[in-house]
Amino acid sequence: MTGFEEVHVLCQELIPLYDDLDVPAKRVIEKHAEECEVCRTNLTASKKIEIGPREAGENDSLPVQPFKKLILLKKFLTLFLFFIRTVVIGLIAFDFFRHFSPAVPYGLQFEGLRASLVIFYVPLAFFLLLFTWFMKNGKIFWITLIIDLLVIYFFDDAVRFFV
Ligand SMILES: [Zn+2]
Repeated sequence: MTGFEEVHVLCQELIPLYDDLDVPAKRVIEKHAEECEVCRTNLTASKKIEIGPREAGENDSLPVQPFKKLILLKKFLTLFLFFIRTVVIGLIAFDFFRHFSPAVPYGLQFEGLRASLVIFYVPLAFFLLLFTWFMKNGKIFWITLIIDLLVIYFFDDAVRFFV
């Protein structure tokens, strides 16, 4: 197989997933599509499918390719990791409000809240971020890192609005 044919075979697999690919991979496909009639047609068609949700729905009857399954799994895991974070944050907040008492100095109670964040949320965020890193989910990794830092630094300030 020549280099062109090899890229062509890969393009056949990857064009249906074009929207989920990273920019360098998209560039490779676009470059190949400039020289390859078949892939240019496929690329145009796959872009059209992505535009309308109705057309995309018609595509659901097609068997899901293994690679597409992998991407779906990645998306599911990302949502799941966010869900775990939400649950833990919810439990920390719940615990804080359950023990909250106007009789105890506020400073002391927020000290407790910060301690809960450090004990429970920081290690959780660390492991989940590590997991996201190993999934090679670059974009999501940086987004969640920023969200985690915001939560760790500003969660107690946010809670202050409610008491
Ligand atoms: Zn091609």
